[in-house]
Amino acid sequence: MESSANSDKMSHITLLREHGLRITPQRLAMSTLLLARPAHTTPQQAYEVLRNHFPSLSLNTVYLTLAQFETSGLLQRFQACGRTIFDSNTDPHDHICCTHCGLISDIPEPGRAQLPLSLSKWKISGESRTWTGTCPDCLNLQNH
Ligand SMILES: [Zn+2]
Ligand SMILES: [Zn+2]
Repeated sequence: MESSANSDKMSHITLLREHGLRITPQRLAMSTLLLARPAHTTPQQAYEVLRNHFPSLSLNTVYLTLAQFETSGLLQRFQACGRTIFDSNTDPHDHICCTHCGLISDIPEPGRAQLPLSLSKWKISGESRTWTGTCPDCLNLQNH
C-alpha cells in the first residue's frame, strides 16, 4: 500500500513540475485531491477538505492555487448554478447542474442539440454553456 501511495505522490510531483509549478505541500495535496480522478469542486469545498491537513491554510490561498492550476492547464473553470467550479477534466465538455441540490454532471460532447441518453431522466429547465435542471434524485423527492 505504502509503495503505491509513494508512487502516486511521485506522479503528482512530476505532473506539477511538467506544468511549471513549484512543489509545495499545499499544491501537492491539492493536486492529489483534485487530479487523482475527474472531479468538480468549488474553492470552498477544496478548502474544507484541505484545511484538515493544513490548519493554517486560508480560503484565499486555495483560490489562488486553483487559479494557478487553471493557468497551468491542470484545471478548467466554469460557472454552474451561480457558483464557480474548478474541473479536473480539461477536455472540452459542457455541464448540467441541478438547480435544487447543485449536482453537476459532465456532458461529453459540447454543443449537441440533445442530451445524451445517460441524462434522459433530467427535466431540463435551461441551457447556456451550462445546462441546468432537476436531477433524478430531486425529481423523486418532489414526486413523493
Ligand atoms: Zn438534484
Ligand atoms: Zn466537467
